[in-house]
Amino acid sequence: MFRRVLTVGAVAVGVVTGGGAAAHGAVRGPQALPQQPVAYGTGGGAATMSPYATASAVDVLRRGGNAVDAAVAAAATLGVSEPFVAGPGGGGYFVYYRARDHKVFTIDGREKAPAGARPDMFLGPDGKPVDFEQAVESGESVGVPGNVATWGVALDRFGSRSLRAVLRPAELVARQGFELDQALVDAISKNQAKLARFPASARYYLPGGKVPAVGHVLRNPHLAATYAQLGRHGWRWFYTGPLADELSAAVRNPATSPGTPPVAGGTMTAKDLRDYSAPLRDPATWSHRGYDLYGMAPSSSGGTTVGEAMNILENFNLSGDRVEALYRYLEASKLAFADRGKYVGDTAYVKVPVHGLLSKAYAKQRAALIAETALPTPVAPGDPSPFDGTSATRKRAYARMSTDREQHTNHLVVADRDGNVVSYTNTIEQIAGSGITLPGRGFLLNNELTDFNFPTGTANSVAPGKRPRSSMSPTIVLRDGRPIEAIGSPGGSTIITTVLQSLINQIDFGMSLPAAIEAPRASQRNGAVTDAEPGFIARYGDALKAKGETFGSADYIGIVAALSFLPGGRLQTATESWRGGGGSAMVVTPKNPDPRGEQDAFGEG
Ligand code: GLU
Repeated sequence: MFRRVLTVGAVAVGVVTGGGAAAHGAVRGPQALPQQPVAYGTGGGAATMSPYATASAVDVLRRGGNAVDAAVAAAATLGVSEPFVAGPGGGGYFVYYRARDHKVFTIDGREKAPAGARPDMFLGPDGKPVDFEQAVESGESVGVPGNVATWGVALDRFGSRSLRAVLRPAELVARQGFELDQALVDAISKNQAKLARFPASARYYLPGGKVPAVGHVLRNPHLAATYAQLGRHGWRWFYTGPLADELSAAVRNPATSPGTPPVAGGTMTAKDLRDYSAPLRDPATWSHRGYDLYGMAPSSSGGTTVGEAMNILENFNLSGDRVEALYRYLEASKLAFADRGKYVGDTAYVKVPVHGLLSKAYAKQRAALIAETALPTPVAPGDPSPFDGTSATRKRAYARMSTDREQHTNHLVVADRDGNVVSYTNTIEQIAGSGITLPGRGFLLNNELTDFNFPTGTANSVAPGKRPRSSMSPTIVLRDGRPIEAIGSPGGSTIITTVLQSLINQIDFGMSLPAAIEAPRASQRNGAVTDAEPGFIARYGDALKAKGETFGSADYIGIVAALSFLPGGRLQTATESWRGGGGSAMVVTPKNPDPRGEQDAFGEG
């Protein structure tokens, strides 16, 4: 698969000469961007779902920027080249391993409900939840965006380059445009009604009122200007300047196209933007077979759920029969999702027994429930509270950040030549978010507030200022304080199982990272049916059905981006070869794969 840009500026040369063997050099005219799923080499590297974004990161690394600088460059570029799943209108979670002191930091850039949000805002007059699509396509669904604050906090705390410098590649791609590929055209087509409803969105994505063809050059001068202004004024401008007034006004009163029905407005005010912060939080930490894993604590359910399932699985030897091992994977995930559903929400509003959910003793109790045949769904949540003060994994945290706070779906990974690592998942929630493009600013606004449970009275029900529960699971794996891997994925609640399965594939089944990514996926989330890719059903379906599992077919599950440090100091960046149209992996200095064959980052463990 190839993507193209038409013209190339001085900085963009690095941006568009992507691929593992990228070289600086003048490029003229339409330029194919080779899109490779795996790269080996040294000097750092990146993997994202977009070759433009990966090339932006590698460009920043080549110019001496560190992993954090490069990650922000990639995230901003994803806002241009993958505008339906990324950008300044969304939020996410940034996990960072700092090589100098072996510490892991996490930034919670999740969107927040405005102060005026009502607990019953997604309930109809009859007290029943409103239609999901109706809630999505409204100002009510828009949370105060967290991505720009995340970029700002990350650069202020850990970066080495200015916001202006790292936004430049994204600005250039936005200004010059890029040719739409099939995946983006399909996404526009599927979301045509939603995009047509909001004039600023229709203007970009439905030129002349029609779905554009593959090869149409999408330019976004408004977003280029937004990035340029952010670079000039600093990230706080997003939350305090005129853009904040415009954004809150657009949320309160979304402009709709003539002839389309009006949509509900939200309550967001400029003060909600001014009050937003992306705090540093304690990572969620757990261990698995001697490896230390760092993920995102609530408001994401990613860390606690991946961690609980891995702790449950540690009670079994998974190296034998593969069907038995996969059966345990599905059942462990089922049990962990039951607890996720009951306990996880924003810790500023509900007490989440994070340490209990991640305790080995609690996991042992949950593991004992796994029987010879599949547990009937939904399984009931357990009670982790007695274990909440006793987590063995708690002591393993390298960074305790609770006293160190500051004001302030796509997945990308970056490592730099010094061994700093970023694992960053962010999103605007549904494809194209709320559908509302901020007029004159060129980016779509999220619908993250529909991640709340619509009924009141649960750990994840709506409250003013609250962060909706997420499934995003950016993860970093260490051994003895040194990084082994960074991994994550988009995919709503299947993010959790995709990260879990990809890690188990490596640590327990001994697969290399590319093989672990390629392997067919299944996702059991305490539902009657396990979603599974056709390849999984063909290979394991009959044997697992005999154990009581039920499958529903999904075209594909997840789009992993990951990197691992191979023996001998080489870096491997890896992403999908086909899911979602394939991702893009690059390194600063490519090398050939080891002639002795593919090596396993976990192999020496
Ligand atoms: N909003 C979702 C979450 O935070 C991510 C969006 C998706 O991948 O579908 O869990």
